[in-house]
Amino acid sequence: MTTEWNEVLDKLLELMRLDLKIARLDQAMARAPAEVKNRAAAVAGLDEKSKQVSDRVKLLKAQILLRENERKTHLAKIDKLKDQASEVRSNKEFVAFRSEISNLQGELDRLDGEVLKIMAVVEQAEAKLAEFDEEKGREQELADKAQAEIDEKQADVRAERDGLLKDRPEVTSKIPKEPLELYERVHQARGRGMAALEGNYCTGCGEVQTRNDVYVVQNRTRLVLCRSCNRILFQP
Ligand SMILES: [Zn+2]
Repeated sequence: MTTEWNEVLDKLLELMRLDLKIARLDQAMARAPAEVKNRAAAVAGLDEKSKQVSDRVKLLKAQILLRENERKTHLAKIDKLKDQASEVRSNKEFVAFRSEISNLQGELDRLDGEVLKIMAVVEQAEAKLAEFDEEKGREQELADKAQAEIDEKQADVRAERDGLLKDRPEVTSKIPKEPLELYERVHQARGRGMAALEGNYCTGCGEVQTRNDVYVVQNRTRLVLCRSCNRILFQP
C-alpha cells in the first residue's frame, strides 16, 4: 500500500505541475487583451479631448461670424452717413454726422479688436488639436503594435497550452480512478487539486490539519484530503 500510494502521489504531483503550467499560460492569454484595451482607451480619451476642443473652436468661429456681420452693418451705416453728410447745409448738422460716424468707427475698432483676440484663441486651440492628432497617431501606432505582438505571442502561448493539454491524458491515464476523480473535482472547483503542507497547515486554504493526518502525509502512507478545502495534501 505504502509503495503504491507513493507512486500514485508522484503521478498526481506530475499532473499538478502540468496543470500549473497550463493555468499560467491561460492567465497570460487573459492578461494580453487588457494591454490592448488600455491602448484603445488612451486613443478614445484623446478623441474625447479633441472633440471638446473642436466644439470650442466651432463656438469661437460662430462668435467671429457674428462680429463680422455686425461690422458689415456698421460699415453700411457709415457709408450712408457719409453720403448724407455731403448734402448737409449747416455746420451743426455736419458736426452731428461726424460725431455719429466717429462713434460707429469706434464700434468697428472694438469689433476688430475682439475678432483679433478670438482668432488668437482659435489659433491656440487649433494648434492643440494638431497636437492631439499627432499624439493619437502615436498611440494608435503603439496600439496596433501591441495587438500584433499579442497576436504573435498568443499564438505561441496557445500552441504551448494546447500541447500541454494534449499531454494531459497520458499523465492522467497512469493515475487510479479514485484519486484522479478527487483531484479533478477540486481542480475544477478551486483551480488547484493539491496543496502542500506547511507545518500542520494546508497552504491551499490555511486550515490546520490533525497531527495524525500530518504524520500520514509526511510518510506518504495514504491519500489525505484537507479537512477544509478537500485538496490532496502532500509534503513538499
Ligand atoms: Zn485546505
